[in-house]
Amino acid sequence: MDFSHNLNYPPRLALAQLPTPLHPLDRFRDAIGCKPRLWVKRDDMTGCTISGNKVRKLEFTLAKAQQAGADVIITCGGVQSNHCRATVMLATQLGMKSHLLLRGEPEELTYRGNHFLDAVVGAQMDCYPSREFISRFDEILAQTQRHYEQQGLKTFFIPIGASDGTGVWGYIHACEEIQQQLATLDELKGIQFDDIVCAAGSGGTLAGLNAGVALYKLGARVWGINVCDDEAYFLRKTREDLDLWQQEYHTQLDLDSLQIRVIDGYVGPGYAKAEPPVYQTIKQLATSEGIVLDQIYTGKAFHGLVSEIQKGRFDDADHILFIHTGGLFGLMADDANKKLLC
Ligand SMILES: *Cc1c(COP(=O)(O)O)cnc(C)c1O
Repeated sequence: MDFSHNLNYPPRLALAQLPTPLHPLDRFRDAIGCKPRLWVKRDDMTGCTISGNKVRKLEFTLAKAQQAGADVIITCGGVQSNHCRATVMLATQLGMKSHLLLRGEPEELTYRGNHFLDAVVGAQMDCYPSREFISRFDEILAQTQRHYEQQGLKTFFIPIGASDGTGVWGYIHACEEIQQQLATLDELKGIQFDDIVCAAGSGGTLAGLNAGVALYKLGARVWGINVCDDEAYFLRKTREDLDLWQQEYHTQLDLDSLQIRVIDGYVGPGYAKAEPPVYQTIKQLATSEGIVLDQIYTGKAFHGLVSEIQKGRFDDADHILFIHTGGLFGLMADDANKKLLC
């Protein structure tokens, strides 16, 4: 097997527990009676308190921050942001301070789930209601940066979800890992994934998978199922991240040859709000496979995948890989999670 692609990876810190397991979901598949074989990549297992897909991106982003001599990492997201929690955990592990700019209403600041863990490691946090967060973000960020710089500290800003040109590397690297698993795991011998599916929240996972599948010639179609915004937003955002990646790292990949695919229609009532069928799918996977999805990202996306399989979109597929991107702490902080008990 030839893994010696001349890909010029930028510096990377080995922060995630890799490789993450990749295995079939045959009991779940029997339970729902679907034709293609379903597989899961357990990127919820990239760590314990540093779990989830953001860790793969942060391996590259924090390497860059460290090289830049950063003392304080500033990033942003919702109160229950998995990205913020992973970032503050890793920043602390690397001996850096962290400051979160959170989007949320005052009543959401309940120190549960991710927010609890952010507080436990001593992250500085400011929270702003949605409207203010959006309209004043640049000003708030500049003010926060000034605050530290006046003390002689160097700040490093990571955009929402660590989705930018650097973050794209996270899921390119994951594709290298998938390629190696396809070549070396007995149960994957001779198998090719027809489709790889992930939740899309800030688009970096989808962008990285698209580039990675092309670079490592995995031959799969890549689909993002959006959990907020819409198809047009993610098509644009994914292209933007890939363009930034190419500009910054001068890669040879022909971006025009990539066909970015987004399945819209599963956002439900809005970001972080899920309807009963999503909880039913979460419960069905939990009880059949012992794998727990969350209501904000992976449960919505997986429910979307199962629904689309049932509608026939994947009729020509034999093997579909779902990326479990994490999210457990968000489920723990969900007021409606008791729905999973009935
Ligand atoms: C952030 C996140 C996603 C979405 O990934 P993006 O790269 O932001 O699109 C999916 N699942 C979980 C659990 C996440 O925290």
